[in-house]
Amino acid sequence: MSVLELKGVTAGYGHAAAVRDLDLSVKAGEVVALLGPNGAGKTTVLRTAVGLLQPTSGEVRVFGRRLGRRVEKNARAGVVLVPDTRAIFHQLTVRENLSLARRRGDLDIDAVLDRLPRLAPLVNRRVGLLSGGEQQMLALAKALLARPRVLLVDELSLGLAPLAVQELLPIVRALADEAWTGVLLVEQHVDLALATADRAVVLHHGRTALSGTAAELRADREAVRKAYFGDH
Ligand code: ATP
Repeated sequence: MSVLELKGVTAGYGHAAAVRDLDLSVKAGEVVALLGPNGAGKTTVLRTAVGLLQPTSGEVRVFGRRLGRRVEKNARAGVVLVPDTRAIFHQLTVRENLSLARRRGDLDIDAVLDRLPRLAPLVNRRVGLLSGGEQQMLALAKALLARPRVLLVDELSLGLAPLAVQELLPIVRALADEAWTGVLLVEQHVDLALATADRAVVLHHGRTALSGTAAELRADREAVRKAYFGDH
């Protein structure tokens, strides 16, 4: 079953469409990598999928139901965007931020910190004093606490050393495998993304330039390269 489905979605800013007539689906337990060059429309897809941006045509469905207009309500339905910096409080410590994010009866903060060993020593530090990469880790920890059923991940690697990314992507993979979460993963490191994902879509100028299983794309890097350059 598709936990997330975009049908013929066109979305953008003002009159400019950044994503055009896009079809895309993510099943429970599946990781789909969303790839493409800068400005291809990847973030726009995630913003549309969480309800921050309304499509000008087409529709977004979550568990078969049309996505609402309120991000908080969509979050309660289990659609979570990482990193969502709007709700990170820089004056508070890491632990205080996690306490605020925790929902009743949900995962224990310590259990989440066990999954993020680099964040654990920083729990009592004010978030404003964390590096950008450490803030990304906090954003992932917050997302895990929310027990997402659809996780939208936007460039977790931004500001992180490749080694740190190699630590975080398996956590995302485990969430799909163990909690049956559907993941849409934007990641600039193509090799890491294809090593993590089940399927991948390459966007170019807001349209699908290439899609297939991660194994197919790993085996045909030339096709991936061409799709990046719009040469397909
Ligand atoms: P990157 O890899 O650089 O983050 P992306 O694939 O995520 O790129 P988007 O951020 O979705 O691409 O941007 C798609 C297009 O929409 C780009 O041409 C961009 O300039 C434009 N765009 C993005 N955000 C806005 C905005 N708030 N207002 C106007 N145009 C925007």
